[in-house]
Amino acid sequence: MAVSPKKTTKRRKRNRRSHHAISPIAYSKCVNCNAPVRSHNSCGECGHYGEKANRG
Ligand SMILES: [Zn+2]
Repeated sequence: MAVSPKKTTKRRKRNRRSHHAISPIAYSKCVNCNAPVRSHNSCGECGHYGEKANRG
């Protein structure tokens, strides 16, 4: 059951939403061309995928 807005104080609301912030996207560098790449994605510049040299 929903809680009435009159019962939800500024403090409670703000305290709850203190966890809602999103963290900035972390970029790593492409091993092949040093362009910024998101992890678990192939490079947009050269299409290279992987953090380390090819293991086969
Ligand atoms: Zn690349």
